[in-house]
Amino acid sequence: MIKIGGLLPFTMIDFPGELAAVVFCQGCLLNCPYCHNPELKSLSDSTQTTWSDVISFLKKRQKLLRGVVFSGGEPLLQKNLHQAVLEVKSLGFKVALHTSGALPEALGKLLQDLSWIGLDIKGSFSKYHKASGTKVELNIAASVQKSLDMILSAGVPFEARTTTDPRVLTKEDILEMASYLSQKGVKTYALQEYRPCNNGRMPEPSMEAISAFYLDKIFLKKLEDLFDSFIIRRA
Ligand code: SF4
Repeated sequence: MIKIGGLLPFTMIDFPGELAAVVFCQGCLLNCPYCHNPELKSLSDSTQTTWSDVISFLKKRQKLLRGVVFSGGEPLLQKNLHQAVLEVKSLGFKVALHTSGALPEALGKLLQDLSWIGLDIKGSFSKYHKASGTKVELNIAASVQKSLDMILSAGVPFEARTTTDPRVLTKEDILEMASYLSQKGVKTYALQEYRPCNNGRMPEPSMEAISAFYLDKIFLKKLEDLFDSFIIRRA
């Protein structure tokens, strides 16, 4: 049904307001330099956990959990994701999606069945290829902007969030992108601190560079003023 890269049986932080399990889907279009899940990137890799394992697990947790999060990788790469979402909903769970926004057409097919979305915004749209590790020609920024517009039109509750990798992002990049998001009508925005990933893609940044975003009170105040809810997640 769908290719599973892993299952987290319990989370209180991945689906706001709900006790949930997280299903990590295999495959991703992007190549973010800060990726902590390189093992999830290949769509063809096989794992030991099957979709029926997930369903059996969920059936035993119907009284304990209220939500299921599809995360990745990029869950929207799974051709049968909508079917999987409907199956999970039929068991009484609410469904959340974590996505890069790179596949707006696939997103559009299941938007009405989602209760919450975590939308990654990798960086300023003018330099998106850099922060997402993708070719300029792919124009991932345009796809993400389209996904954002679709989510806003559908009215599904969501959070836009950015991981502050100092190797590919500056404060100016973040302010430029946050200003765009605010003008579009995004209400909730989160900054997530970079965690060393040692994936060999780029040399690790200094701790000073990593924390610089969070020590600049003027920068943080500017962001806070742009959104109803501004969340800081430090490692
Ligand atoms: S979106 Fe980026 S961080 Fe997430 S799995 Fe893909 S490459 Fe890794």
